[in-house]
Amino acid sequence: MSGAIHIHPLVDSGVKPGSASFAGGTLVCKCASEQVKVRIDGPIAHNHACGCTKCWKPAGADFSIVAVVPRDKLHVIQNENKLQIVDPSATIQRHACKGCGVHMYGRIENKNHPFYGLDFIHPELFQESGWAAPEFAAFVSSVIESGVAPERMGGIRSRLKELGLEPYDCLSPPLMDAIAGHVAKAAGVHAR
Ligand SMILES: [Zn+2]
Ligand SMILES: [Zn+2]
Repeated sequence: MSGAIHIHPLVDSGVKPGSASFAGGTLVCKCASEQVKVRIDGPIAHNHACGCTKCWKPAGADFSIVAVVPRDKLHVIQNENKLQIVDPSATIQRHACKGCGVHMYGRIENKNHPFYGLDFIHPELFQESGWAAPEFAAFVSSVIESGVAPERMGGIRSRLKELGLEPYDCLSPPLMDAIAGHVAKAAGVHAR
């Protein structure tokens, strides 16, 4: 596929701002019946477009839209028996619906991981609107691993910038700093 750039259906016609009053909601899978439902008791954080090969994304999209919530704010409230872990050996254990394949949440079980305590979710699955808008694009170069021609990267990066989603090839600087800070603290390094 070449030509038109499809970042993700949620942002392709412009990033929609979130509402400051959004205080959570329910994520619903794409099954026609007996949907898996996950309740989120609070706002989402660090919402972004992600180009990695592991995130769930809708057909035709080159990026996922993914955010985090504290794991104690996430509860599977319906049809949990339909969930299975995509890859139990992965750092982020993605719990996917066996019926429709949608990833309902990703969880880190390694207590030493910098992001332990945060679950990854796809806010487009909220039945409510108003969740915080995506702020940047992560793992942009990784879309090549899922089949995007390298020659198209200039156009993709330009389009992300045009949408206000600053493209990064790993995570955004604040998140990279958070990871490095965690590593330094774990190693007993004193900040100067
Ligand atoms: Zn489903
Ligand atoms: Zn990803």
